[in-house]
Amino acid sequence: MIELESLVRRNIWKLTPYSCARDEFKGRAASVFLDANENPYGSPLNRYPDPLQEQLKAKLALVKGVAPSRIFLGNGSDEAIDLVFRIFCEPRQDNVVAIAPTYGMYGVCADINDVEYRPVALRQDFTLDADALLAATDDHTKVIWLCSPNNPTGNALERHAIEHILTAFSGIVVVDEAYADFSNLRPFRLDLDRFPNLIVLNTFSKLWASAAIRLGMAFASEVIIGLFNKVKYPYNVNLLTQQQALKVLDDLQHVELWRATLLNERAHLLPSVAELPICKAVYPTDANFFLARMTDADRIYNYLVDRGIIVRNRSRVQLCGNCLRITIGTPDENNALLGALRQYR
Ligand code: PMP
Repeated sequence: MIELESLVRRNIWKLTPYSCARDEFKGRAASVFLDANENPYGSPLNRYPDPLQEQLKAKLALVKGVAPSRIFLGNGSDEAIDLVFRIFCEPRQDNVVAIAPTYGMYGVCADINDVEYRPVALRQDFTLDADALLAATDDHTKVIWLCSPNNPTGNALERHAIEHILTAFSGIVVVDEAYADFSNLRPFRLDLDRFPNLIVLNTFSKLWASAAIRLGMAFASEVIIGLFNKVKYPYNVNLLTQQQALKVLDDLQHVELWRATLLNERAHLLPSVAELPICKAVYPTDANFFLARMTDADRIYNYLVDRGIIVRNRSRVQLCGNCLRITIGTPDENNALLGALRQYR
């Protein structure tokens, strides 16, 4: 990796961040708060929340095995995705390289930030062609976007190929592990020491069943997390979200039960869909969804919608012709899906 300073936009490197009222007295005891123009009535939601979410990060650090100083929390991982562009990519000058197909927000955030987006196709079997990605980079490539397990294909990318990119590329590599809780592979957040250019994304929205509270995580070196903290909105994670996240972390046993149930359902649903005459292939998955190639995805999608069952039609996505992306639901929901597909004519 080259010097971090040369990867960061000049205005961001030089930025003096907004200083929150509460930051200025930090560390000393206080009980009278007349510093932030809040209304003194209506506790506790009258007060601004902790801008750096320290209590939550201390707890998360234990669960994730990453020091609090290497954790950024945002309004969904989508906030972290946008911040990567705003920190590293000079509009109309820099570019990013990404696997294709993959999660759509990397491309949307590139467009919003006016940064060139260079999609590089996975192989036909959805494995990662590291050299093809590296060949698409040039002197203005700041970031390579990887997603593992990948959305919408469901497969985890091979670790050795990801490591090859991390070593050979001198810019930032993002590995979005939103779905890693559904695989048994070693998560990349445990390898931050080996890869100073690595940013790993996790989320409360998937296994942790908290999509509604909008809470995403980025794990990276302390310097990179420092840049996230400089650029983010001062109070980007609201108090209700912080409180609810602490409750989730207090009940991880429940989460383990969900994981076991969903993996069991996945093991049953995949072969059942695969044996339907209208299904040409289901692809191996490490996530809580899978991709199924159908005889006529558009017609089957509309048929399911008419029965109140919504899956994701991915048939117009690169390499995914005639594919539906199906999320693993409860046993009842999965049976409803299977029953409907069995009756399809
Ligand atoms: N990354 C991937 C790969 C996703 O599929 C999604 C949501 N579908 C996200 C990130 C966004 O997650 P969040 O809810 O944390 O913004």
